[in-house]
Amino acid sequence: MKSARTVFKQHLKNKGLLQSKQREQILDVFLKTEKHPTVNDLYDMVRKKNPKIGLATVYRTMELIYDAGLARKVGFGDGIKHYEHKYKHQRHYHLICLKCGKVIEVTSNRLEQIQKQLAEKHDFTISRATMRLFGICRQCKRKGK
Ligand SMILES: [Zn+2]
Ligand SMILES: [Zn+2]
Repeated sequence: MKSARTVFKQHLKNKGLLQSKQREQILDVFLKTEKHPTVNDLYDMVRKKNPKIGLATVYRTMELIYDAGLARKVGFGDGIKHYEHKYKHQRHYHLICLKCGKVIEVTSNRLEQIQKQLAEKHDFTISRATMRLFGICRQCKRKGK
């Protein structure tokens, strides 16, 4: 499988866009985080590397990274768009804490099987699946006691 960097380079080339240093830095920062950053989060992280990068550049570059199939957009009920890795990433689901906003990633083979069965039963091809479970995380429950 090609590296995410190669995929991004090819995507820029196909679009007739330049492989700029700034775009590379934004991709690097995104690839290094295993969290679910918003554009503002990414902007804060990128500025530590290169203070010259503007928010609009981060925003546009994330759209390019998304178009290239490297990122997925997810919402956690706060109305803000979060990004996460898509390329070479196992399908997973999110548990979202309503108190502290923490997002826990979970995987479930059983859930995959159920989806497969449902799809087969209805001769349906699933292209994406999301599940968000909202509640209170362990730490917040402890604090609440
Ligand atoms: Zn919490
Ligand atoms: Zn995730």
